[in-house]
Amino acid sequence: MASSHLAGDGPFSKQCQAWLERTLGCARALLTHSCTAALEMAAILCDIQPGDEVIVPSFTFVSTANAFVLRGACPVFVDIRPDTLNMDEQQVEKAITPKTKAVVPMHYAGGPCAMDVIMEIAERHGLWVVEDAAQALLSTYQGRCLGTIGHLGCLSFHETKNIISGEGGALLVNDTRLVERAEVIREKGTNRSRFFAGEVDHYTWVDIGSSFLPGELVGAFLFAQLEQAEKIIAARRRIFDLYHRSLRPLEEAGLVRLPWVENDSVANGHLFYLIARTTEERTRLIKHLDACGILAVIHYVPLHSSPAGRRYGRTAGHLAVTEDLSGRLLRLPLYYEMSDEDAGRVVASVQEFYSRPS
Ligand SMILES: *Cc1c(COP(=O)(O)O)cnc(C)c1O
Repeated sequence: MASSHLAGDGPFSKQCQAWLERTLGCARALLTHSCTAALEMAAILCDIQPGDEVIVPSFTFVSTANAFVLRGACPVFVDIRPDTLNMDEQQVEKAITPKTKAVVPMHYAGGPCAMDVIMEIAERHGLWVVEDAAQALLSTYQGRCLGTIGHLGCLSFHETKNIISGEGGALLVNDTRLVERAEVIREKGTNRSRFFAGEVDHYTWVDIGSSFLPGELVGAFLFAQLEQAEKIIAARRRIFDLYHRSLRPLEEAGLVRLPWVENDSVANGHLFYLIARTTEERTRLIKHLDACGILAVIHYVPLHSSPAGRRYGRTAGHLAVTEDLSGRLLRLPLYYEMSDEDAGRVVASVQEFYSRPS
């Protein structure tokens, strides 16, 4: 496809957006610079005002909370479930106050939060639901794609994710009432997209907004990735399944815990983690793997214990599960071109660690 269009929303970007709308099933998909940018757009669309509260997990990436803090909100951190490591839906209702405006579930490792419960609570209390689906492209929950269940969903195409464009993301607008305003906010607060659609004869400043759309080079790169999405995800799931199968005996022996896979969901093989019995054991396992030439890394420092999290947010209840599991979790290598042999080597090194007397 030849095109001299280099700014945003050229033919490649449009193909990406059409692909996302068709494949995931959402009213409108808008490419952004990043998932962070999509979350910032979501905060504007939810009309977050200074003093509002937003319920978020503490075990997540900073942008889940930061996007709302930028609009003056206080992130209220809730604990995670020990099985899925996702926001504990039982804690959400208890965290609601008259100031609460939105709930932001994050689908860790591409595995789904209990969206049916979260949506039901949000509807009862008149709250927005913004899914941080940065890791969850093409994962499903009860047959629906993650990111398409809340009022808004945010995807990432950062190079650390499954489908990439270097930096990149998308806002999925599922609530049709928000589509027009989303387009305005993304185009610097102008009604430029209505102008291009021939709906108005000039465009002007109509709302707050910023430049949230990526250039066409990003769209071109991303479309090539989306065309291969099934293949990329199948390869990652093959490695995920290999790890799961091979390490099951260690889990059955009570030595490690593996990612939990629920029956009514399909995860996208985004990452594979182990939970060691203690933080000290995790440190030794990471060292052992390092000595075998294998890079295993920890994940989030809980946001409620971070300097900015303490300054801008507060906790709802005691985040015991978050504090415990974040200190014991490590991620094993998992990438598209990883061979079964390489994954087998990682498994053998983990097995070796647990077969030695400590
Ligand atoms: C990667 C990630 C983000 C940020 O994505 P960017 O595209 O880099 O802004 C946000 N939330 C979660 C849960 C992530 O994993």
